[in-house]
Amino acid sequence: MIERVAFFSVHTSPLAAPGSGDAGGMNVYVDSVARTLAAMGIAVDVFTARVDDGFGEETEVAPGYRVVHIEAPGRDRAERIGVYAEGVAAWAIRHQASYDIIHSHYWLSAWAGVLLEEPLQAPLVISFHTLGRVRDVGSGEPPPPLLRLAAETEVVARAGCIVASTPAEAADLMEHYAAKPERVCVSPPGVDHGVFHPGAARRSDLGLPGGPLAAVVGRVQPLKGIDVAIEAIAGIADARLVVVGGPSGEVGDREQDHLRTLADDLAPGRVDFLPPMSHDAVADLYRSVDVVLIPSRAESFGLVAVEAQACGTPVVASRVGGLAFSVADGESGYLVDGNDNADWTKRVLAILTDDVVSTKLSAGAIVHSSGFSWNVTAARLLELYQGLV
Ligand code: UDP
Repeated sequence: MIERVAFFSVHTSPLAAPGSGDAGGMNVYVDSVARTLAAMGIAVDVFTARVDDGFGEETEVAPGYRVVHIEAPGRDRAERIGVYAEGVAAWAIRHQASYDIIHSHYWLSAWAGVLLEEPLQAPLVISFHTLGRVRDVGSGEPPPPLLRLAAETEVVARAGCIVASTPAEAADLMEHYAAKPERVCVSPPGVDHGVFHPGAARRSDLGLPGGPLAAVVGRVQPLKGIDVAIEAIAGIADARLVVVGGPSGEVGDREQDHLRTLADDLAPGRVDFLPPMSHDAVADLYRSVDVVLIPSRAESFGLVAVEAQACGTPVVASRVGGLAFSVADGESGYLVDGNDNADWTKRVLAILTDDVVSTKLSAGAIVHSSGFSWNVTAARLLELYQGLV
């Protein structure tokens, strides 16, 4: 019987607003799963490293769901992870807290999880969310630190249970990290249908223009391939694009400057850049645009794809990683191989100009997204946890 679970999320806090910096899909995942498990009666403590965000040591987010901020200073990652793990162990002793399961999110937390498995005497579950060796493939991002690659390899060799978001991530774990198939299980993320649902939204309320309109939603970084979206829109005479999100990662600011220049050159006055929005505002945005583009060069799942589809908006996405799972090609949107302008323009144009196509894909998007929910994700995780204890 699972009663208490600890989540390790060193890298980012589930309380951070997603859409820029380090905060994105993983924050949404950790927050949504913790909320859902807590609503099912399982107490969840999420341990994150303190940043100067004004939160106290503990934040009660919802009944049964609390975020604990651990001081984790250090000169480098290795030292910070050690200090974090000591801090979690000390907190657990001070509060006489014990857990049935510990669940790490991202490679840094996976490393901390390995250190904490024995002191906390609980089985360790790991979700990587992204993998260094996969993310790096032609992404335009700086190469992942060697420490990350070594830590991922070591952790995979030791871990009793690794959760992959999709069958593609499970295959990557086996191919690139020699993970043992019997230790990898698949549990896809979900979507909050209470927020992301079809409905009417007025563009004017969001300050959006009329006419054929596409959107990209996500952190601005080379990995997201926003240049491909700009080039596709540039090829469609009266179409416009709105890009929502802020810079992320080492080269995020440079990428934003590059994209603004590209938009000025290729589609002057037809691309708007908006700062990160709350989930409620993002849902309104999905409902008011004609199509959402996800031209990512790597993507372990793509929450944006499922959110947009849940709002009844078709998606055009790269056929990479988890997107081939979160988008049903030809039914809820289109998957495009590679970054060729003409291929992207063709798919976007079909949705913008052919009512029969867009109506069919919109209906298909609602159907496809209905298979994803945080209740399903949490129930699947619970099943895994129970199998381990
Ligand atoms: N997001 C948001 N506001 C923004 C931009 C993004 O709330 O301005 C959210 C988006 O709705 C989604 C998450 O950030 O829930 C992005 O997740 P995804 O899996 O698409 O990408 P990741 O951040 O994991 O690379």
